[in-house]
Amino acid sequence: MSKGLTSREDDYSQWYNELVTKADMAEHSAVRGCMVIKPYGYAIWENMQAALDKMFKDTGHSNAYFPLFIPKSFFSKEASHVEGFATECAVVTHYRLKNDGNGNIIVDEDAKLEEELIVRPTSETIIWNTYKGWIQSYRDLPILVNQWANVVRWEMRTRLFLRTAEFLWQEGHTAHATSQEAIEETERMLEVYADFAENWMAVPVIRGKKTANERFAGALDTYCIEALMQDGKALQAGTSHFLGQNFAKAFDVKFTSKEGKLDHVWATSWGVSTRLIGALIMAHSDDSGLVLPPKLAPIQVVIVPIYRSDEEFDKISELAKEISKELKLKNISVKYDNRDTLRPGFKFAEYELKGVPVRLAIGGRDLENGTIEIARRDTKEKQTISRDGLVGHIEDLLIEMQQSIFNKALKFREDNTREANTYEEFKAILDEKAGFVSAHWDGTSETEKRIKDETKATIRCIPLNNKLEEGVCMVTGKPSSQRVLFARAY
Ligand code: AMP
Repeated sequence: MSKGLTSREDDYSQWYNELVTKADMAEHSAVRGCMVIKPYGYAIWENMQAALDKMFKDTGHSNAYFPLFIPKSFFSKEASHVEGFATECAVVTHYRLKNDGNGNIIVDEDAKLEEELIVRPTSETIIWNTYKGWIQSYRDLPILVNQWANVVRWEMRTRLFLRTAEFLWQEGHTAHATSQEAIEETERMLEVYADFAENWMAVPVIRGKKTANERFAGALDTYCIEALMQDGKALQAGTSHFLGQNFAKAFDVKFTSKEGKLDHVWATSWGVSTRLIGALIMAHSDDSGLVLPPKLAPIQVVIVPIYRSDEEFDKISELAKEISKELKLKNISVKYDNRDTLRPGFKFAEYELKGVPVRLAIGGRDLENGTIEIARRDTKEKQTISRDGLVGHIEDLLIEMQQSIFNKALKFREDNTREANTYEEFKAILDEKAGFVSAHWDGTSETEKRIKDETKATIRCIPLNNKLEEGVCMVTGKPSSQRVLFARAY
């Protein structure tokens, strides 16, 4: 076993990078900004996908698939959209290579594309170009489609899972007859994301709206969920956009209403990405490794045998198999680690690093006494319990751990959300404690930008459940009707 992790206190960012690689989640690839997601990390993504996919289908959506490439002209049709994404696009210009005669492989200039193709950074344009052919009348609406895909955004500063140049995500793209319906859809999907973050990832989130500055390029309104990481930095964990009629107008998508009137269609789009895995790691894990909420853990229970003879090993294995079978019947994923080349202590450390929620250890004495040692990953508490009733105990423990991990993260967020009434107070909080800071702001982009330039803090969101409160902007002294939430963010 390699030596332990750098502690969070010593260097949070180093801790994170080491954890991702040592826990076998992902690694940097030969391609700048792109990562390899390893089987253990991918298994978490698959669990996330399965849960989200069900939630999308339960709210009436179906999956479809659109091309990876978008003709450049499509991109240019919605002005603010192209402006927002122009600086981070990968562009395909040729479709063939050739040998230059000296053994070098070069781009064949004779194979230049007539129109360049953009590798999708998001699919609004290709999808709305397609929807044009699907929508004529109100009877064709709504369209509720989701796509699971990879996208490319040429990010300059990348970080495993949190920000990569290529990432995996889902993008929902819906079309509606009225503005009202589209806004309801935008809010419904934000709630789906919040529900997933809190009840599956055990990460409490603030639901809010972005300011005009931070809006998705081409949206009238961007809703988001914001989470707080253990170093006091915020992370935008998901977005849901109300796109108004912008894309319908750009792609000329009209429908005839019940009353026979012709109007442009209303749109939404919403997405979460493999960034969620980064959020999961940063929100819960500790200096010994990952702490995974049981509902998303690829392995929920691991069984480690502790034996002194072959005969004891055989007996323990028999019991372990029996227990595994019972757990599987309850849909609990279990691994029996019978590798005989490694000591139990080594295995314990490995499963701690990988965040397996429950560890069972079975030794010779346990066989005699009908007991089992059970350890939970989050608090590292150990207990010896009776073999009878083991499965029921584990079922209860997994539920209790899921809740307890959430409660801990919620308490952390509450302890690290503060109000500032002056700009000095605001800066002091950011420098000493970080976290969310709730403060009055005059509503202008200029002030928002000045705060960002001076403190590196951004407005994470205007919380949806905000209380109206008369106050004055901490920077300009101009009137403000509500506090907004600031933080330094990933
Ligand atoms: P957007 O289309 O910009 O609203 O982003 C949709 C989702 O993708 C959000 O949940 C973002 O957090 C996430 N996301 C955006 N850029 C990246 C990136 N470079 N790497 C990973 N996730 C990203």
